[in-house]
Amino acid sequence: MSEQKRTEIAALGEFGLIDRLAKKNITVNPSTLKSIGDDAAVIDNGDKMTVVSTDLLVEGIHFDLMYTPLKHLGYKSIVVNLSDIYAMNAQPKQVTVSLALSNRFSVEAVEEIYEGIYAACKAYNVDLVGGDTTSSPRGLVISVTAIGQGERDQLVYRNGAKVGDLVCISGDLGAAYLGLQILEREKRLYLDNPSVQPDLEQQTYLVGKILKPEARKDIIEMLSKNGIKPTAMMDISDGLASELHHICRQSGVGAYIEESGVSIHPDAQMMAINFKLDPITCALSGGEDYELLFTIDPSDIEKLKYLPDIYIAGEIVPKEDGITLHTKGGNIHPISAQGWQHF
Ligand code: ADP
Ligand code: MG
Repeated sequence: MSEQKRTEIAALGEFGLIDRLAKKNITVNPSTLKSIGDDAAVIDNGDKMTVVSTDLLVEGIHFDLMYTPLKHLGYKSIVVNLSDIYAMNAQPKQVTVSLALSNRFSVEAVEEIYEGIYAACKAYNVDLVGGDTTSSPRGLVISVTAIGQGERDQLVYRNGAKVGDLVCISGDLGAAYLGLQILEREKRLYLDNPSVQPDLEQQTYLVGKILKPEARKDIIEMLSKNGIKPTAMMDISDGLASELHHICRQSGVGAYIEESGVSIHPDAQMMAINFKLDPITCALSGGEDYELLFTIDPSDIEKLKYLPDIYIAGEIVPKEDGITLHTKGGNIHPISAQGWQHF
């Protein structure tokens, strides 16, 4: 018997694994306009482009039911997919939902998940049109596929950033990661002493960001209304550092980010210090904010400058200059791709 080579998945990491699998992917249909590698795939249907994205949420990896209400879980499972469609500058229209359920879950529990799913569909004007249901030996798995629509010349990919473009970020970063730290801390306290009740009242912003994120439909609409089409865009699900590396790699450029240009909510600032973490590290490497990272042509600056909740955080530079952080203290640090690693 020939000896089979065995490579641990952890040795490649999530992105390394996807890259390796995608190497053998040959698309044969001319309608496959964008395949693996962006926030969503793009299918050319002539008049309109169809945009498709899918995500898998696994109990114990992506969520912990000790502190995640089922309704929130349903809501979030939809929103994280819609976020990928908006990140293509497209509009989500339909979703499918597939579930694997262990016998730990009752009908009522599944109905609660669907209350959240329907609430998200209503909030974002999308229709639930199908899915699949099966049993699971352990725990809960939710897979959502979102289908959207976009105009051919309005879609925005990860590979369009050019030297001189401005790097923009919607909203504030790091809050979801700190919200998660709070929930994990309360869980440990509870497991140590079940009579202690969690104290989350003070932290509704941070806990809300992790349990009930929103997709930035509003930002996409605002950019469109103001005649701004980003040159590159993606959503921030794995952390700014990781996403910046994706845009730079695919666009063949480098970038710098000004520490002072990254918005961090005051509650996140306070909580980072509480946990003895550096707020900017939380903003760069914490995941799950579901904000948008995009680049614009410098000629669009006048149109963008006064738009609310968009921060100009840096600039695209030649590839040789690397990906760096300019700190408030005047230092320049390379930004590593270290994002949110599931493996
Ligand atoms: P996101 O963080 O935006 O959800 P991912 O990092 O999960 O994106 O995926 C990056 C790209 O790789 C996407 O184009 C996605 O469709 C593709 N992809 C992820 N996993 C697989 C897989 N197992 N097989 C084929 N393509 C995949
Ligand atoms: Mg994405």
